[in-house]
Amino acid sequence: MSEPRSVLITGANQGIGAAIAARFLDLGDKVSTIYHSGQDPDPRILGITGDVTDTETVEAAFKTIEAQNGPVEVLVANAGITRDQLLLRMTDAEFDSVLSVNLGGAFKCVRRASKSMLRLKRGRIVLIGSVVALYGSPGQVNYSSSKSALVGMARSLTREIGSRGITANVVAPGFIDTSMTAALPQERQDAYKASIPAGRFAQPDEVAGVVQFLASADAGYISGAVIPVDGGLGMGH
Ligand code: NDP
Repeated sequence: MSEPRSVLITGANQGIGAAIAARFLDLGDKVSTIYHSGQDPDPRILGITGDVTDTETVEAAFKTIEAQNGPVEVLVANAGITRDQLLLRMTDAEFDSVLSVNLGGAFKCVRRASKSMLRLKRGRIVLIGSVVALYGSPGQVNYSSSKSALVGMARSLTREIGSRGITANVVAPGFIDTSMTAALPQERQDAYKASIPAGRFAQPDEVAGVVQFLASADAGYISGAVIPVDGGLGMGH
């Protein structure tokens, strides 16, 4: 069995992040999370409450994680929010907050994690995007912009630090059974299901399995990729 790795998954106290964490815990890895304000994570996870948009919080969290679990070898930037609104009604705050958490939070964690990865000469960065990043979605100009930017981030990371044993990829889920989709009105949920070739939403663990693969030794030559987990909705986008 391989040595346990220090794995940081942001927002792993619930939803997709919790499912991803369960996969790494099953492998025997040391899992940590930075989460915002909600329910506590699985007690086997080193949980740090804080805001990923705050540089000092991220720095302090990494220090705690490094002291307890060792340098982060696998980073899954999963924390994300939606503030859906039609374009003409979308406020600056609704736009800025989504960009700040989904894109800025990922950037701050990636920047900090890359320090130890460069030193170790290995690392896995997985950014949780969305099918709507490249498919588009009415009422989600802020959210889709933040998620498509992660594609540019993963590809630039690949070009900048890809020669140091570090991969950076985006996993782009479609509609997953979590509180984020449960919050959608029923008629919207039904309309989405009708447009998904698989005819259903996915379970969070179906996303987690793909993240686990990208973090594995078998995926060492995959970088700068966008892996859809969307039941065919985006047809490979
Ligand atoms: P949830 O709302 O269930 O979980 C979001 C997580 O992000 C929570 O753990 C939350 O912490 C954390 N979080 C939010 N803001 C911050 C912040 N500022 N600092 C630290 N942590 C924060 O969402 P999902 O599990 O559904 O989504 C996870 C990821 O998957 C997101 O990036 C989302 O955009 C993406 N996604 C989801 C899809 C879906 O259908 N559900 C589809 C496509 C992509 P807390 O609970 O403490 O507030």
